[in-house]
Amino acid sequence: GLPPLYIITPTYPRAEQIPEITRTAQTLLNVANVVWLVSEDAPAPTPALTSYLNESSLNTVYLRAQMPAKYMKAKNKPRGVANRLAGLNWVRANAKEGVLYFADDDNTYDLRIFEQMRWTKKVSMFPVGLVTKLGVSTPIVRLGKVVGFYDGWIANRKFPVDMAGFAVSVPFLLTRPNATMPFTVGYEEDGFIKSLGITSADIEPLAFNCTKIWVWHTQTKKNTAAVPIAQNNITMGTNL
Ligand code: UDP
Ligand code: MN
Repeated sequence: GLPPLYIITPTYPRAEQIPEITRTAQTLLNVANVVWLVSEDAPAPTPALTSYLNESSLNTVYLRAQMPAKYMKAKNKPRGVANRLAGLNWVRANAKEGVLYFADDDNTYDLRIFEQMRWTKKVSMFPVGLVTKLGVSTPIVRLGKVVGFYDGWIANRKFPVDMAGFAVSVPFLLTRPNATMPFTVGYEEDGFIKSLGITSADIEPLAFNCTKIWVWHTQTKKNTAAVPIAQNNITMGTNL
């Protein structure tokens, strides 16, 4: 059959959580052979989230891992790292084939990127649309090979890519037992990809040699409302 996609989605409780999770879930409902690892950064499971996952027809795994306390009060936090790492550990312990992808709960995904990443041999990369002036973060491809990167913040990164801009083969990941994501703000992607021990020549450019934007780093406006209670206690109405 088709190689499975292990999609790790870090999430955290806030008013926008269930709307974001709903959009991501309904994207993934259109993708074959997905295992959706929803990894929550929270002191306890959020009932609205766990009920949503239990009711979903997707193959879901609920995980929970909090950001270490020492990072919580920092101005720039390593958002989603502890919970992505929980997802990574689950994949290491439970998966043998297929492909791993980090899909934040608030991004926007074109289904075509999932079908292309499914065949990743080591590490694949592709453009990520940005809603900033820059417009995109992408590998630069010449003659089918990645020769550089276009990103608003290259810094001293070897792989200046967005979290949504790469996928990793599970069999390849399993040959890299020490690969991990650092809690270093801005260097999460670079640190993780470097720890996989690849060179630019190993990178498989997708989306027609990185000429198509099939994933967008969108951001939802922050709101101040409280986390709502679970919605499944509503007893009025009918299921006719
Ligand atoms: N996230 C998290 N804990 C936090 C903040 C964010 O798990 O304290 C998750 C969030 O749900 C998202 C990912 O980490 O899936 C990236 O966070 P965010 O979207 O806030 O970052 P941005 O896209 O603005 O860089
Ligand atoms: Mn985001």
